[in-house]
Amino acid sequence: MRKYSEETKKKLIEMSCNKCGKKISVENGIINEGMFTVAFGWGYFSEKDGQIHNFDLCEKCYDEYTKTFLIPVDVEERNEIV
Ligand SMILES: [Zn+2]
Repeated sequence: MRKYSEETKKKLIEMSCNKCGKKISVENGIINEGMFTVAFGWGYFSEKDGQIHNFDLCEKCYDEYTKTFLIPVDVEERNEIV
């Protein structure tokens, strides 16, 4: 869940994990923690066609969530570190 500044509507001022509600620190619009961010556009063959679902999970909730998977997350190493 993201809150943007009233003036510009663009600067991120607050962020919370959708699952546990934990507030994530944001400094000058930059998120200082690892967050799992989803912005998924459902397609024609779903019952949510035309909807975009947005949510954010903190790293702890992401780990708890993915541990429930029968088939684990496919993890690759990123070559470039930004
Ligand atoms: Zn959380």
